[in-house]
Amino acid sequence: MLLVQDIDQTRQLLRQHVRPLAGQEIIELAQAGGRVLAMPIAAARDVPPFSRSQVDGLAVRAADTFGASENLPALLTYIGEVSMGQASSLQLGPQQCIYVPTGGEIPAGADAMVMIEYVEDFGDGLRQVTHAVSPGAAITYRADDVAAGAEILPAGKRLTPADLGTLAALGISRVAVCPRPRIAILSTGDELVDVSGTAGPGQIYDVNRYTLAASVLAQGGEPVFYGIVPDELADLQETLALAIHDCDLVLVSGGSSVGTRDHVQTAINSLGQPGVIQHGVAVKPGKPTMIAVCDNKLVIGLPGHPVAAWFMFEWLVRPVISWLQGARPPRMLTVSAVTSSRIPSNHGREEFVPVRLLSADGGLDIGGPEDGTSPLVAEPVFTKSGLITLLSRSDGYIRIPRDCEGLPERSKVTVYLF
Ligand code: AMP
Ligand code: MG
Repeated sequence: MLLVQDIDQTRQLLRQHVRPLAGQEIIELAQAGGRVLAMPIAAARDVPPFSRSQVDGLAVRAADTFGASENLPALLTYIGEVSMGQASSLQLGPQQCIYVPTGGEIPAGADAMVMIEYVEDFGDGLRQVTHAVSPGAAITYRADDVAAGAEILPAGKRLTPADLGTLAALGISRVAVCPRPRIAILSTGDELVDVSGTAGPGQIYDVNRYTLAASVLAQGGEPVFYGIVPDELADLQETLALAIHDCDLVLVSGGSSVGTRDHVQTAINSLGQPGVIQHGVAVKPGKPTMIAVCDNKLVIGLPGHPVAAWFMFEWLVRPVISWLQGARPPRMLTVSAVTSSRIPSNHGREEFVPVRLLSADGGLDIGGPEDGTSPLVAEPVFTKSGLITLLSRSDGYIRIPRDCEGLPERSKVTVYLF
């Protein structure tokens, strides 16, 4: 009998068995969202590449506006305007001004912008400035954002929409990213039918295929589905062998308990050394989880219960997919809340409890301010672990430590958001 470990121990074990995938792909920027950088990116040019105005208005010498007010405007000679998208050859001298639109280049000799709202034009070639500005006012200087040569994104960074914008600002149209890990998904169970078919008496639809595939995609992996495998040793061996051969990680859900029809452990152990290295995670739901290595490939046996499988994906599989990509596991999004009622727990296992988030007045409000004055309330949603609809109806979940007898009402908790 293998030792039951907690989540952290299990993650450490997994970490030891993951090597980042070798190689890299060069892809177009438009396709790079969610992918992981294979190499650090340094700026080849300054951002912005020239000093720009933040407002529509007049480029001036700040000193020429000192003391200006509604009653005593500064009088400046208007000598022309800067066009968007063009370099300006205008040179600003003392007591002069030049019109510059927002984003236009600041002409030589100018050191401040005056918003057009503070300018009067009486059609005499002069402009009255009714507001004093200080040097640098409303100007974004060249390289304010990024200076050429600076490293802006490290290797292993998963590219967000903002990162794509940063790369575009730098004129980078293609990037080197880590390969997408291929993640095999097998559903096991004589009772399972795909949603494309019709579940007859005693049959249920395969849920895990869809939750797992969507989770794999969200994590930047490529789900490869190997179908619904009956609870027959030979079938499991055959399909698992294919999946282990062709994919970077194998997820098999169901059949990982110790029932008479649960052949997953036997099948895995017949397919390569060392086979199953951990059977059981001290968590509820999720206990019948299996970690195996066959010929240097990780195989993770997830519980059949869809909710349990989902939690184990979140805590064990997501980090593995990140490590395969040379990335760090994603940060979990959390909010603080207080519990609406007592939450019992005495399982000797850590427990995940799905919750709905309510504002103090009872309305659903997960986007509201977290200023402590109106704390969010976490209302537990209890269920048997098989009911996936529960997760759809919850906003997140809390973790109750393994040696805790449960939480009293109004306990302060961290809610992990879905
Ligand atoms: P098992 O881990 O095979 O003992 O399955 C535990 C429970 O989860 C049983 O009620 C199964 O019918 C159910 N189950 C297993 N696999 C799936 C699946 N892919 N989709 C939905 N329910 C499943
Ligand atoms: Mg089963």
